[in-house]
Amino acid sequence: MKPVKKNIQNGSICILGIPLDKNSSFQKGPSSAPGQIRESYFSDSSNLWSEKGLDLESIKHLYDLGDIDFKEDIDDFNLIKNSAKDVLDKNCYLLSLGGDHSITFPIIEAYAQKYDRLNILHLDAHPDLYDSLDGNIYSHACPFARIMEKNLAARLVQAGIRTINGHQREQAQKFGVEVNEMKDGINWLDKLEFDGPVYLSLDLDCIDPAFAPGVSHHEPGGMTTRQVIDIIHQLKGKIIGADIVEYNPNRDLNSMTSMVAAKLLKEIIARIYEDTI
Ligand code: MN
Ligand code: MN
Repeated sequence: MKPVKKNIQNGSICILGIPLDKNSSFQKGPSSAPGQIRESYFSDSSNLWSEKGLDLESIKHLYDLGDIDFKEDIDDFNLIKNSAKDVLDKNCYLLSLGGDHSITFPIIEAYAQKYDRLNILHLDAHPDLYDSLDGNIYSHACPFARIMEKNLAARLVQAGIRTINGHQREQAQKFGVEVNEMKDGINWLDKLEFDGPVYLSLDLDCIDPAFAPGVSHHEPGGMTTRQVIDIIHQLKGKIIGADIVEYNPNRDLNSMTSMVAAKLLKEIIARIYEDTI
């Protein structure tokens, strides 16, 4: 994962930090996540191989684009959308490190311009389908409502969900979202098959807080880290982009969650590499 700002080759995998947490409804913190996740990625406590045997250092075209530099006078979402578009225009694959989950909407706006029939697999404790939360339609609780009302995805499949309320159940029905709730187990993985490109949006609170305490919303009853890795390995479809969001270093214990994020980052890089070479 080489740091680089320009001269990116076609077909590269690009890591981009998106340090934005102003749309977080409950706590701030994810704006300092990208640097922490990179530190854990390179930590001497582990190595840079994927579980399936890929040496990540052998990937020639894996680049770290650094973090988006948000400015007072430029619209945050425009900056995110244009940064994503720059990567996609070079036929590269974007893997973003949030930030809170609000960042996924402008990323998907860029992806939808490039991919006609985009599928999204969204792993989260929360459906993030609120029409609006606390008067903010761009809240981290709303991105998938914005994505679906603009018809940016052919199919949205959610899993890990364990906080759905009446309003969001109505929203899911209205938009035709396929919601796999934790209470129903994870047999959905065997049955799920995507036709066409898949974007993976991974909110770390899909994982049980016992495994990943460094998130703003501790919602018990979640997935194990192992289950999420299995999903990354076994998903039937071609993954062409992803984000890892909602890591909150202020809530972490001994960098546990940062190591989870870094581990998932490694496995997603390997999966995108295998799917796209
Ligand atoms: Mn979320
Ligand atoms: Mn969540």
